[in-house]
Amino acid sequence: MSVRVRFAPSPTGHLHIGTARTALFNWLFARKEQGTFILRIEDTDLERSKKEFESSIINDLRWLGIDWDEFYRQSDRLNIYREIAEQLLSEGKAYECFCTKEELEKLRGKGYNRRCLNLSTAEKEALRRERRPAIRLYVPKDGETRFNDYLHGELCFQNNVIDDFVILKSDGTPTYNFSVVVDDIYMKITHIIRGEDHISNTPKQIHIYNALGIEPPVFVHIPMILGQDKAKLSKRHGATSIGEYRSMGYLSEAMVNFLALMGASYNDKQVLSLEELIDLFSLDNLSKNPAIFDIKKLDFLSQEHIRRKSIEELTQLTVQFLREKRLEYWTIDNTYLTKVIGLLQTRIKTLKDIILMGDYFFTEDFSKDAEIPLDEKKRLSSILPELIDILNSIEDWSSTNLEDRIRSFITEKALDSRWFLQTLRIIISGKKVTPSLFETLEVLGKEKVVNRIKKGMN
Ligand code: GLU
Repeated sequence: MSVRVRFAPSPTGHLHIGTARTALFNWLFARKEQGTFILRIEDTDLERSKKEFESSIINDLRWLGIDWDEFYRQSDRLNIYREIAEQLLSEGKAYECFCTKEELEKLRGKGYNRRCLNLSTAEKEALRRERRPAIRLYVPKDGETRFNDYLHGELCFQNNVIDDFVILKSDGTPTYNFSVVVDDIYMKITHIIRGEDHISNTPKQIHIYNALGIEPPVFVHIPMILGQDKAKLSKRHGATSIGEYRSMGYLSEAMVNFLALMGASYNDKQVLSLEELIDLFSLDNLSKNPAIFDIKKLDFLSQEHIRRKSIEELTQLTVQFLREKRLEYWTIDNTYLTKVIGLLQTRIKTLKDIILMGDYFFTEDFSKDAEIPLDEKKRLSSILPELIDILNSIEDWSSTNLEDRIRSFITEKALDSRWFLQTLRIIISGKKVTPSLFETLEVLGKEKVVNRIKKGMN
């Protein structure tokens, strides 16, 4: 039987780290097993679901490189849920409930009292004139419900803690547990890989499978992602959505690699491409211990994936990133950008670092983490004009030639070479640390360098 899995996000927010990891595990499993990966938008909560979140989730999945073979939206399928609910009703496995909100409110904490279970036809007809009923599943009160979880083994729940829960609301929309089961059956899902937070829903879902007379698929409940403090990952641990990391300039390859490592292992390898991840993925390598979110790991992976890129590819990604950041006016031209990236590639952790660390390549309004002390400025004002003359006369503006000429200038003037080169670095970049000074001068070009030195003297 070929593998069929689904990722079923509710479009009530942006794609969260934990949800993205669920998507990824499903996707890796499908690709590894040459199965089918389904994207199903669970938007039956009409109040909380938003179209903008649906497109944002889809965008982020595309960015991560996760594609799908089939696409469904639950709001397009309301007739199917109604039909199945009617079927259960006619088979006596579900019943209509006419209780009002206020009546149910009084039962709060006590559980549903099956008040509507044995209404006569006449009673129902009378009530139907007043309001539309919800449909409840009849759940046996005795016995227990067991299911086998791939990671957790056999789990057992007492039936008496589960009420006759609503499967179809009075407005005709399904409840979460019902639409999930109907769809998983209809879409012939073989494995349900989802977060552990859904374990508590599973017995309810099993009751629906039982009522429909269908064998449930394999359940794989993956552990939650926790912050360093072992609390469930949340806003207070920092950015939690994929979009935020994208806008911080992390590469999608790094993000995917990072997500994939949270709760799974791949022959002890750490830095892995999407292809390698597919190749090494196995449900047997999933861990049942909680995964800890470690931003340092993401930084490490991001740096590694940046190093693995060709300069051309990294240039393309940077252009795209600058455009998204609306800094396209920075991208002078691709040849220039390629040279800048050649210098920065091994130093950056994110695409944003290009802006933060290398702003002086793009703008005269660059940030400064160092200044030339006043007393040195005086001394420099007698040295720099001569340097400017030399630089102006240079025709071969290559780093090797620049190094020759500047070093002979240093010797001739008997300057402290470390001091002078560092001063020059600060003048042209505002930074204490840059790539090789002479290569930086070469890439910046004569005009920028000379102008900055002139400016630096004032
Ligand atoms: N729509 C559910 C959620 O976003 C997932 C349902 C499931 O995987 O069974 O949490």
